[in-house]
Amino acid sequence: MIPAKFDYVRPSSLAEAIQALAGGGDDAKVIAGGQSLLPLLRLRLAYPELLVDIGGLGELTGVRDVGDALVIGAMTTHYSLIRDPLIREHCGLIAATAATVADPAVRHRGTIGGSLAHADPAGDLPAVIAALDGTLTATGPGGEREIAAADFFVDYLTTALAPGEILTAIRVPKLGPGWGYHYEKFQPTAQAWAIVGVAALARRDNGHVAEARIGLTNMGTVPIRARAAEAAAAGVEASRPALAAAAANADEGADPPSDLRAAADYRRHLARVLTGRALAGAAGV
Ligand SMILES: Cc1cc2nc3c(=O)[nH]c(=O)nc-3n(C[C@H](O)[C@H](O)[C@H](O)COP(=O)(O)OP(=O)(O)OC[C@H]3O[C@@H](n4cnc5c(N)ncnc54)[C@H](O)[C@@H]3O)c2cc1C
Repeated sequence: MIPAKFDYVRPSSLAEAIQALAGGGDDAKVIAGGQSLLPLLRLRLAYPELLVDIGGLGELTGVRDVGDALVIGAMTTHYSLIRDPLIREHCGLIAATAATVADPAVRHRGTIGGSLAHADPAGDLPAVIAALDGTLTATGPGGEREIAAADFFVDYLTTALAPGEILTAIRVPKLGPGWGYHYEKFQPTAQAWAIVGVAALARRDNGHVAEARIGLTNMGTVPIRARAAEAAAAGVEASRPALAAAAANADEGADPPSDLRAAADYRRHLARVLTGRALAGAAGV
């Protein structure tokens, strides 16, 4: 289908973009890589009157080292995340997960900011940023504010971004020594969306898992931290059977959907099995 008619601007600075967005009011929308928004426009599930294209804002691309954390520009593409040396060295979970998103064409255009702002429960990066305890920077007419990942995802396709705000950056703490990571994605075919995904981080110490963090994809309307499994994994031997046992309650607190691709019970089963595997991968066993 052909999208409804809209006006289009491509600002050359963040300040201009914020002004354009404010000027368009409720009928204006940001477009980044367009990989999620364009299909919605073509299906006429969204019909903004103004698109503010932030693709020309170089200030929103790339990764910076700020000491104990990395700051990732919202317009950084999945392709760049996979190859970025800072990401690979200090936050490899992001690169490993971005490599599972869609296909090369989508990864070249789609951005981390778009993935997070779109907040699709089946999107892979939201659970990763939740597991990493990331912080998101929103910039609007009133200036900048920081939002913890735990507060950013509010509901299905809904975030804490206020009208007129642009997600400009994502701050993630560097993983220190001893941390390992793994993203386990269950998908019906290669290059498809996750039926369930599990992002796991584990800090190994003396043959045991000292600390674990787990984010679940598509187990509710927002990414979910598997707190029961995190607690169960802390202190256990770094072995596959022990970590599979620790994952037995991985679906606690989740509220997975039943849809044409999977029933809720099946998703719960997957979350438990995949969490065991993801923890084992993160612990290197
Ligand atoms: C065939 C196909 C398969 C896919 N498979 C997967 C998959 O397996 N896993 C996965 O995670 N994703 C998948 N995607 C989605 C892809 O990852 C997109 O890149 C991503 O969801 C959106 O990023 P974008 O930059 O294209 O955002 P856009 O499409 O440009 O925008 C998406 C939404 O976010 C808003 N937005 C974008 N950037 C900002 C910002 N900086 N500030 C405020 N609002 C903003 C827009 O207004 C819009 O509402 C797939 C997409 C396609 C087309």
